[in-house]
Amino acid sequence: MARGGDQSWRPRESDGQPEERTAQNSRAKMVKETQYYDILGVKPSASPEEIKKAYRKLALKYHPDKNPDEGEKFKLISQAYEVLSDPKKRDIYDQGGEQAIKEGGSGSPSFSSPMDIFDMFFGGGGRMARERRGKNVVHQLSVTLEDLYNGVTKKLALQKNVICEKCEGVGGKKGSVEKCPLCKGRGMQVHIQQVGPGVVQQIQTVCVECKGQGERISPRDRCEICGGAKVTREKKIIEVHVEKGMKDGQKILFHGEGDQEPELEPGDVIIVLDQKDHSVFQRRGHDLIMKMKIQLSEALCGFKKMIKTLDDRVLVITSKAGEVIKHGDLKCVHDEGMPIYKAPLEKGTLIIQFLVTFPEKHWLPPDKLPQLEALLPPRHKVRVTDDMDQVELKEFDPSEQGWRQHREAYEDDDDGPRAGVQCQTA
Ligand SMILES: [Zn+2]
Ligand SMILES: [Zn+2]
Repeated sequence: MARGGDQSWRPRESDGQPEERTAQNSRAKMVKETQYYDILGVKPSASPEEIKKAYRKLALKYHPDKNPDEGEKFKLISQAYEVLSDPKKRDIYDQGGEQAIKEGGSGSPSFSSPMDIFDMFFGGGGRMARERRGKNVVHQLSVTLEDLYNGVTKKLALQKNVICEKCEGVGGKKGSVEKCPLCKGRGMQVHIQQVGPGVVQQIQTVCVECKGQGERISPRDRCEICGGAKVTREKKIIEVHVEKGMKDGQKILFHGEGDQEPELEPGDVIIVLDQKDHSVFQRRGHDLIMKMKIQLSEALCGFKKMIKTLDDRVLVITSKAGEVIKHGDLKCVHDEGMPIYKAPLEKGTLIIQFLVTFPEKHWLPPDKLPQLEALLPPRHKVRVTDDMDQVELKEFDPSEQGWRQHREAYEDDDDGPRAGVQCQTA
């Protein structure tokens, strides 16, 4: 059996040359704690790409716009991502855990605000931009690999704030806006609180009357459409053109189509593509990867097989008589990978990994075995002497206790197991 099984096989993205194991995979991980990895739902050996993808999916799911009750979760996701996306911080965390991060190399235990992390990731530009402009509307759009191969136009219904047409963003009749009498236009209220004998503290809170606006409209003058809010909630249909060769996580920007607010530039609508897994093909960059099962007879004597492409063509591949395909062998078809974004006439490579299905036990009557053997390459003769121990060969069950950690040690380490070391994380 191939070491590590099917899952461990991963072609390297940089040079397009697939191989059994990659440097990325060899990041032998002995981390102090896994909490941040658990929050993002990734393994400690996850690549930067995997971490980005995990953050993208979770941040969109738990963003306060979509999930107002999950603020704490959104914060945790953001903190975990902030640490794990920075190679230096990730190293510190791997070695010393959360404690080491909080103590910090420079004595700064602070995390960025979850909104800043989110805006930075999805292209909103941080707090400064947020205050000068209306809010960005970030939306995930689910697409299939076929959509990304062929291109598709999808209609998406969004809710967004639009300046009220009736009052043109004033909130009421012209001239009806007055300075808030409670905070005198400052938007904040100041309370004096006694916190100890002879010690008072000034506390500022957002004004309850005007909710920080500094102005108000008396109830009878308020706009009957927006009720003084200046904006209305509207449903807007946008057409998203998914172009050939676009990829999972790619953003499509609709400039100025986000929330409108009086006296501010409107925000953007940002559509983030989210590719569903495909039952046959896996995508790596421009290449498509698939596994194909073949019978032992096909592996030894040749075959013809059909592959249905993502645009519904049928490819016929041939292994000529006399060619031998081994279990795990990789073959490829040029120009049958993904179309290249902005140059869709060019395509990547289709890579096929062959999995040879061996016959079941006792498939051949024992008296036929010599015939088969006569055709196969000769086996090595073995001489057993009295000083050797004859032992029994049994079926091995990987789910038996203790094996799991050892198996992970195999998977994470290119040089094979290092006795003792890998068990420390348990
Ligand atoms: Zn006020
Ligand atoms: Zn209005």
